[in-house]
Amino acid sequence: MTTENKRKIWTAPEIVETYLAFFRERGHLEIPGSPLVVPDGTTLFVVAGMQPLMPYLRGQVAPPAPRLTDLQRCLRTDDIDAVGTNGRKLTSFHMLGNWSIGDYTRREAIALALDLLDCFGVERSSLWVTTFAGEPSLGLARDEVAVEEWRRVGMPESRIVPLEMDDNFWSTGGPGPCGPDSEIFVDRGEAVGCGKPECRPGCSCERFLEIWNLVFSEFEQRPDGGYEPLPIRSVDTGMGLERVAAVMQGVLSVYETDLFAPALRRLRELAPSGISDGASETRAVRMILDHTRTALLAGLAGVTPGRDGRGSVVRRLIRRAARQGYVLGLRQPFLGELVAPLVAGHGTLLTPRERERALEIARTLGDEERRFARVLATGLREVERIRPDDDGTVAGERLFVLHAERGFPADLAAEVLAERGITVRWPEYERAFAEHRAISRVGTGAQSQTA
Ligand SMILES: [Zn+2]
Repeated sequence: MTTENKRKIWTAPEIVETYLAFFRERGHLEIPGSPLVVPDGTTLFVVAGMQPLMPYLRGQVAPPAPRLTDLQRCLRTDDIDAVGTNGRKLTSFHMLGNWSIGDYTRREAIALALDLLDCFGVERSSLWVTTFAGEPSLGLARDEVAVEEWRRVGMPESRIVPLEMDDNFWSTGGPGPCGPDSEIFVDRGEAVGCGKPECRPGCSCERFLEIWNLVFSEFEQRPDGGYEPLPIRSVDTGMGLERVAAVMQGVLSVYETDLFAPALRRLRELAPSGISDGASETRAVRMILDHTRTALLAGLAGVTPGRDGRGSVVRRLIRRAARQGYVLGLRQPFLGELVAPLVAGHGTLLTPRERERALEIARTLGDEERRFARVLATGLREVERIRPDDDGTVAGERLFVLHAERGFPADLAAEVLAERGITVRWPEYERAFAEHRAISRVGTGAQSQTA
C-alpha cells in the first residue's frame, strides 16, 4: 500500500476524507466542525481546532463518544505580520483533529499518528518529533512517557527533541485545558534549510515543517497562571490540512497546494508585468492569497467588512491585501477575481450552498476594495513623502494626522514604513489620539451647553 500511496498525489479533500475515515474505522465518532464565528464571543472566531471541544476536555460536559474526530475551520490574526514571511503561516486554516476524552493516552495517540502517516505515504525517515522538556519552576515534569513511546515505535533517539515550555506546552493562552505536547515534523531536506548547525525542529527556516501536534490535555490553567490537574486525562490533536497537503503534494509552501494553486495562477494573469520571485513580491502574493481566502471564509460565516469587531478584522485583511496589489503593479480592484479560483481550489471542502454564496462575497470584496481605492492611492503617496528622523523612526503623530485627515489606517502606514526599515514611535500616536479625543469631548460639551 505504501508504494502505491507514495506515487499518488493527494488532493486536500482526499486527505480530509482519508483522515476522517481512518479515525472512524478506529472507533472515533465524526462530529461536524463548528461555525467559524463563536456565538458566545470569548474570541471573535474559532482560533483552534479544540476550542469547540473545551467543555469535554475540561470534564464539564459528557462527550457524545469518548473518541471523536472532525475538521474545523479556524481564523486567527494575532500574528498576522508573520503571514507572507514564510511558506506556512496563514490567518485561516483547516484543522483535522482526533480526540480521546479520558480514553486512550500517549501510547495509542502516537501509534495512531504514525499509522496514518504511513497510509499517507510520508516517509518515516523524514519524521522528527519534539517532546516537553519540563519546567521545574512551575512544577511541570519532563515528559518521559512521550519519549519512551516514541522510542517504542522505533523513532531514533537523535530525532526526538525535547523543547521548553514555549514550544511544547500547549495552552490557549488563558484559562482552559492545557498540557505537554509532542509535535511531529517533516524534514524537507538540507537544501531548503538555513544551513546553521543548530537547525532542527522549531527553527524558523523552511526545513522542518510541523504537521501534527499531539496535546496531552492534563491540566487546567487557572486565571492566576497556575496549573491544576483536570478531572480526566485526554488527548487533543491537530493536523494542519494546508501543511500536510504541502508535504503530500511535494511543494514547499502551502500557497502552492491545490487549495491555492488556481488563485495563484489567476493572480499571475492579473499582474500586468508578471510576478518575480523577489522577496517583496513573494510576500505580496502570499498575503493576497491568505487574506482573500480568510475574507472569503469569514464571509461564508456571515461576516461582512465593517468598523468594529469581526467586521473590522475582515476590513483590515481586505485593505492589507489591496495594498499588496500595488507591490505587484495592480492598480485596479482585483481581489474579487480571486474568489472563483479559490472556490475551485477548495472543491468539496466548501458545501454547494457555500459555493453559490461565494459569488456574493466576491462582490462584497470588490465593493470594499473600490471604496478604499482612493484613500489607498492618496495615502500611499503621503506615506512615501514621510522622511524618518536620524534614528530611523517617525513620530506617531504623523500617522495619526494621516488617519484623521485622509482615513488612511495607521497600521497600514506603519507596515509600508516598516518595508523601508522605518519604525513608528507609537507613544506619540497614542498621545495625539488622546488629545484629539479630549478636544472632541470639549467640543461636544460646548455644543450641549449652547443647545
Ligand atoms: Zn533552520
